[in-house]
Amino acid sequence: MFKQTKKMLLDTLFPIQCLLCRKDNVWICKKCLDKIEILSLQVCPYCEKIEMPAGKICPRCKESLLGKNKIAPVDNLVAAGNYKDVSHFIHLLKYRFVSDLHMPLGKILVKAIIENNFPLPDLIIPVPLHKRRLRWRGFNQSELLANYIGENLTPGFQIPVRADMIVRKKYTVPQMKIKNYSERKKNLQNVFVLDEEKAKFIRDKEILLVDDVATTGSTLFECGQVLKANGAHKIYACVIARQEFKNVL
Ligand SMILES: [Zn+2]
Ligand SMILES: [Zn+2]
Repeated sequence: MFKQTKKMLLDTLFPIQCLLCRKDNVWICKKCLDKIEILSLQVCPYCEKIEMPAGKICPRCKESLLGKNKIAPVDNLVAAGNYKDVSHFIHLLKYRFVSDLHMPLGKILVKAIIENNFPLPDLIIPVPLHKRRLRWRGFNQSELLANYIGENLTPGFQIPVRADMIVRKKYTVPQMKIKNYSERKKNLQNVFVLDEEKAKFIRDKEILLVDDVATTGSTLFECGQVLKANGAHKIYACVIARQEFKNVL
């Protein structure tokens, strides 16, 4: 009851309008949403240079990983749109707490997954927040996006979403604030963990990792690493956009 009154009051004080054309009662109207470009050309998740269908690893990066006796933490990565087209919405979702924006943004992700012939997963896992950050924001934006994808990617069939698999055990400086590539990587080392008891839920599974934005990809790679170390078969990852990273040494 209180929640509804509060919502009504907020809607009267701050009426919802399309952020792009001011049409009433919607954050991004269908017409404007359809105009946001979905990227159909994806690049290798590691070198970010070679165009690869469905954002697979390019042969050169694959070889280089093999040479170092490493397995790829992420097998495919899809970035749905251009950062400049969607960054404003992501910012409102994360820092102005407009949680309803997860729906149009989720729609963009679903579209990109389908249009890029991205492999369908058995299970969807959002990148977790530290509990302190979760308390501050009140929701995990990646979890909202993951739930949207789980419900809408395959109509009539829900793909399970598990937000409780990976835990972010250390509170870290937001990646956004670190300007150096190796510092970013170091910042996330041993941050994500998976309870041994939960390994049975991911063993031999093809998993879709969901995050809002990727820059160097470190967060997704760290999560993928933890999942593969615990028996996951394939890791696909999707983000709304990939932000260009300017390394400052
Ligand atoms: Zn509009
Ligand atoms: Zn590559």
